[in-house]
Amino acid sequence: DAKAYATGSMRFFVARLGEQIRRRLVLERDLREAMEKKQLSLHYQPKVSLHDWEVIGFEALLRWNHPEHGAITPAEFIPVAEESGLILPMGEWALTEACCQAARWPDPLQVAVNISPVQVMTHNLPEAVQRALRTSGLAPGRLELEITESVFINDNRGTVERLHALRRLGVQIALDDFGTGYSSLAYLRRFPFDTLKIDRAFVRELLISRDARSIVRNILALAKSLRMSTVAEGVEEPLQVNVLEAEGCNMVQGYFASRPMPADQVLEFVLKWRERDRPQRPRELELE
Ligand code: C2E
Ligand code: MG
Ligand code: MG
Ligand code: MG
Repeated sequence: DAKAYATGSMRFFVARLGEQIRRRLVLERDLREAMEKKQLSLHYQPKVSLHDWEVIGFEALLRWNHPEHGAITPAEFIPVAEESGLILPMGEWALTEACCQAARWPDPLQVAVNISPVQVMTHNLPEAVQRALRTSGLAPGRLELEITESVFINDNRGTVERLHALRRLGVQIALDDFGTGYSSLAYLRRFPFDTLKIDRAFVRELLISRDARSIVRNILALAKSLRMSTVAEGVEEPLQVNVLEAEGCNMVQGYFASRPMPADQVLEFVLKWRERDRPQRPRELELE
C-alpha cells in the first residue's frame, strides 16, 4: 500500500543519501592524496578562430585518474574540492602547471585556466597568478582566466576589485558558461571581460531551435557592442560551425575541432593543424 511504499522509498532515499555522503567523504580523503601522489593532470582543448581557422590557444581542464575508481570527472570532484578548501592548492597547481606548459608552445598560443569562485573570493589570487607567471616565464598576455558569472552572486566590491587587479597584471579574463547562471547582466557594466564564452546548452540547440539561434545571435550582438570577443563551447557538428560563423562568432571550441588531449600531444597537434592535417572547416568542404 501507499504507506509501505512511502516507507520503503524513504529507506531507499536514506540509504542513497548515506551512500552519497560516504562517497563524498572518501572522495575528499582521496583527493588530498591525489594531489600529493600526482594523480591529477591537465588536458588541453583547442580554441579555433572562425576568422582563419587557426588554433588560437588551449583551455586547460583538470583530470583525475583514481587508482581504484578510474577517471573521475571535474563535475564530481571540483565541488568536493571547493567545499573542502582543497581547490586553493589545486587551483594554484593547475595555474602553474598550465603556464609552464604554455611557455613551451609556439608564441602567441594562449592558455586558458578555469578559476573557481572560491579562488576569486580569496584575497591573494592576483599574487598566485603573478607567481605562476614568474615561475613559468609566460608572457601575461598569453594567459586567460575563465570565471563564471556565479562570482557575482554576492556582488561584493572585493570581487570586482580583484578582477581589476588581475587585469592590471596583463592577463585576459573570460566569462565562462554565459547564459546559464543568475546573470542580472548588471555586472557586465561593472567589469569589462575580454571574452565571452557561450554555454554549450545554447550551441546544442542551435540547429533545432529557432529560439536558441535567436538567443545566440543576441548574445553575440551584446558581446560585440561591449567589445568582447566570443567563443562558442561544445561545437560538435559542421553545421553548427556554419551557423556560428554566419552569426559572427569569433571562435569555436568543441569535439568538432578536438577533444581535450594530454599535454604531451599539444605540440604535435599544433604542427599537424598548421600543415592542414586537421578537420576541414565546413565552408572549405562546400567549396570542393
Ligand atoms: P568548462 O570550463 O565549461 O569546460 C568545458 C567542458 O565541456 C569540459 O568538460 C570539456 O571537456 C567539455 N567539452 C568540450 N567540448 C565539448 C563538446 O563538443 N561536447 C561536449 N559534450 N562536451 C565538451 P570537463 O573537462 O568535464 O570539465 C567540466 C567543468 O569542470 C569545466 O567546465 C569547469 O567548469 C570545471 N573545471 C575543469 N577543470 C577545472 C580547473 O582546473 N579548475 C576549476 N576551477 N574548474 C575546472
Ligand atoms: Mg572553461
Ligand atoms: Mg564553459
Ligand atoms: Mg560549460
